[in-house]
Amino acid sequence: MKQLTIGLVAHDRMKPALAEWAARNEAYLAPHRIVATGTTGKVLAEHVPSLNIRSLKSGPFGGDQQLGSMIAGEELDALIFFQDVMTSQPHDVDVKALIRLSVLYEIPVACNRVSADMIITSPLFNDHNKLPDYGGPEKQFKDWLNRLN
Ligand code: PGA
Repeated sequence: MKQLTIGLVAHDRMKPALAEWAARNEAYLAPHRIVATGTTGKVLAEHVPSLNIRSLKSGPFGGDQQLGSMIAGEELDALIFFQDVMTSQPHDVDVKALIRLSVLYEIPVACNRVSADMIITSPLFNDHNKLPDYGGPEKQFKDWLNRLN
């Protein structure tokens, strides 16, 4: 099984839900590398100490952008981001940019528990070779431009 790099992030009011989800899915997560935004990483390390967690900066201080940079550098294999959709966030533009890059680079991304459950338990999760090769965002953009001309 290939060791994957999985981004885990939760807005403040969703951190308990992510910690509970990660604890429940410890067996799925433990073989992989976890990269988390700062405060999320601390909470996860307390609740699920067996995980291999690298913490970035706190989200509002650039952590979401650091994760986005990893996506653009093709260093992230999946993103689980539990968002608080009932509270406005000072770094909303960073969150939006992160989700945008996940879409663009075909990174499996889950923003709630059910989607996260489906990603982590999918047979495709540990066997990316079975996925079609979509060719990366630059190729897709070129194809799209060619279709227009
Ligand atoms: P945090 O950042 O883990 O440092 O709280 C998460 C976020 O709100 O983007």
